[in-house]
Amino acid sequence: MVSQHPPPPPAGKRRRIAVMTSGGDSPGMNGATRAVVRMAIEKGCEAYCIYEGYEGLVQGGKFIRKMEWSDVRGWLSEGGTLIGTARCMAFYERPGRLRAAKNMILNGIDALVICGGDGSLTGADKFRHEWPGLVDELVSTGELTTEQVEPYRHLNIVGLVGSIDNDMSGTDATIGCFSALGRICEMVDYIEATASSHSRAFVIEVMGRHCGWLALMAGVATGADFVFIPEKPRADNWKEEMCTIVARHRQLGKRKTIVIVAEGAHDQHGNKISPEQIKDLLADKNGLALDTRITTLGHVQRGGTACAYDRYLSTLQGVEAVNAVLDATPTTPTPFIAINENKITRKPLVQAVEDTKEVAKAIEAQDFDRAMSLRDTEFSDYYNSYMTTTTTDLNDAMRLPSKKHMRIAIIHVGAPAGGVNAATRAAVAYCLTRGHTPLAIHNGFAGFARHHGDKPLGAVRPFDWLEVDGWASKGGSEIGMNRELPSESGLDHIAKLFELYKFDGLFIIGGFEGFHALSELRKAREQYPAFCIPMTLLPATISNNVPGTEYSIGSDTCLNELVRYCDTIKQSASASRRRVFVIETQGGRSGYIATLAGLSVGAVAVYTPEEGISIEMLAADIKHLKEVFAQDSGQSRAGRLILINEKASKVYNAKLIADMIREEARDRFESRDSIPGHVQQGGTPSPMDRTRAVRLAIKCIEHLESFEDRSADKIMTDPMSSTVIGIKGASVVFSPMKDVEENETDWANRRPKHEFWMPLKHTVDVLSGRPDVPRPESPLTGWKAKDKKRGLI
Ligand code: ADP
Repeated sequence: MVSQHPPPPPAGKRRRIAVMTSGGDSPGMNGATRAVVRMAIEKGCEAYCIYEGYEGLVQGGKFIRKMEWSDVRGWLSEGGTLIGTARCMAFYERPGRLRAAKNMILNGIDALVICGGDGSLTGADKFRHEWPGLVDELVSTGELTTEQVEPYRHLNIVGLVGSIDNDMSGTDATIGCFSALGRICEMVDYIEATASSHSRAFVIEVMGRHCGWLALMAGVATGADFVFIPEKPRADNWKEEMCTIVARHRQLGKRKTIVIVAEGAHDQHGNKISPEQIKDLLADKNGLALDTRITTLGHVQRGGTACAYDRYLSTLQGVEAVNAVLDATPTTPTPFIAINENKITRKPLVQAVEDTKEVAKAIEAQDFDRAMSLRDTEFSDYYNSYMTTTTTDLNDAMRLPSKKHMRIAIIHVGAPAGGVNAATRAAVAYCLTRGHTPLAIHNGFAGFARHHGDKPLGAVRPFDWLEVDGWASKGGSEIGMNRELPSESGLDHIAKLFELYKFDGLFIIGGFEGFHALSELRKAREQYPAFCIPMTLLPATISNNVPGTEYSIGSDTCLNELVRYCDTIKQSASASRRRVFVIETQGGRSGYIATLAGLSVGAVAVYTPEEGISIEMLAADIKHLKEVFAQDSGQSRAGRLILINEKASKVYNAKLIADMIREEARDRFESRDSIPGHVQQGGTPSPMDRTRAVRLAIKCIEHLESFEDRSADKIMTDPMSSTVIGIKGASVVFSPMKDVEENETDWANRRPKHEFWMPLKHTVDVLSGRPDVPRPESPLTGWKAKDKKRGLI
């Protein structure tokens, strides 16, 4: 019988976990390497890196190196992969894998974490499958003895998916794909400006042989006029279809045309669709006659440093990979680490590799429905979102009969956050496609309520397609945002206005105030029948403190701004060396932003309102800094960072803490405070905020639509008639406001009662090597003792 326990480590030896990057490099691979190395050490194992991918494993020797804690310092902010990657022909053949096995055993490596694409992970799976035979062969040929191989009878492998293409089935995102998407969107944003100036058309080719994720998402994020992806080739009349849509957009007054094409795009019969072909169509003198240029983005898509998401994704997945190694038994199927919406999970590697190959096979066999179905549901969701926003009034099949048309009001409540305009654009485009009338309420409830005597002055206007079409990548709020609540504007007055404008549905985009506003309207329904219409909230705030969701649009943009800011500031220290920066983040009474930014930049400490700050804690952190600087005799020049949320303490602020550190350091190192402030609201929204905004906004309007012929009675009794949309764990859900208000909301602190990210705080501390400092009683909630028991801190 096979033992249920992990194979024992060689006598007298600590377990050795090795990490390797393989295949094409992708931003975030360094974050994975750093996390595996540090987590392995934290768990009492020895950490190794295999340099140059499988080539290093086959060659052995200097390619297999033991790593110490400080060897991976500063790696989070480096692009590419610092341990190298290479294509390795030898590993495709058994003799190559035999040498690799021998090198692993000779180096005493028990487990291997591989970060790479589907090729690398296929190789990994084959290696594990063959392992017992390889070991037997090494003994039978006399290369190794039975005693030598005995502790290595089972090979323990865990996969991390590092790829810019996001082509692996079973996971929503691969390490690197959002950084690549960010690069593409940045380039398209630049191109758009020149396209608009000259009224030109651009055909932009992006990477993706069998996978259209980058092309599709770039299309959604930038509001491109047309996209071509391999999984879903257009019908045979694609030439007319494209030209009709582009012509319609031009007719509506659009001055620029953007077509995005994946490098693997083809028609339904497998014939490649090239950028040149598209250009010729758009430029045809007898047709659209557009001045058309081609841009092939090429390797810039791989380049640069990782975005915030790839940094914390790679970090958390690296941590999970080490946990998976330590949990594995000889019968555990080889796992890879996935993410679904917001949840990191372990899944069987073989299945994912097979499914991924199936997509390519289905495309080759021209079975495109199957190809789409093998991608995740999110993918087809995005495809549908894209289609409904680009075809505007051209899609008769999508148009509802006129009796079902609704007047849907859209209002922004709170402070600006990245993605608010993208959400509005998508909602408006969707409404127009369905035949509804989308109405803009300008400047929140305060703007809505403006009046002179009985005469309303607030601007309520139908949206204009051309106006909103340019909003896909715009930051801020184009219709104006305000924090005022309906009760402050006067519920009576607001109810009259709802009647006056005959709203059939309300779509609120906003932060905690938006949530609060919706709660007020819902509760006032008994008194004011005007509020008996379906209402829904799309959470949008950089603080990510809205109950009912784990993710608010705008928070990713904020994290990216913070990460960029921290990188710059850290770098600025390299001239002066030995400097600590205490950086104050926004976030209200939620430590989400501070914690996730801390995870993404490797902060030495993060102070949050949930935990609070005490004098003992500061003393311990300062003592730790002194030790760190004493050990580091200048080999690593970049500064160190402490992040503090603006409301972490009423007394200890960034400046005071920086002053205390300086005083205690006695010239051995320097300390400065720094407050990025409104930079955190972000200029251009991140692609994640833009794309999620589009997808969620469309779902919100679909949800409002489902109430089209409900009576006021039904609205009153159906809890789903006022909802908040959110990402919870692995799914997107609408939650009834009443439930969320009553059960999930910490009203006093304006945040969810249960904050899903709390355990991450511990991870930040572990990975930055922070000692177990004394924790204060929280100044805001006092939850520490209780939650410590539950393992939340
Ligand atoms: P990616 O991992 O980015 O898909 P590749 O397909 O080039 O990149 O794979 C990277 C390396 O993984 C290859 O150079 C080879 O060493 C190894 N590899 C890929 N596929 C296999 C396979 N089927 N069997 C064994 N090794 C493989």
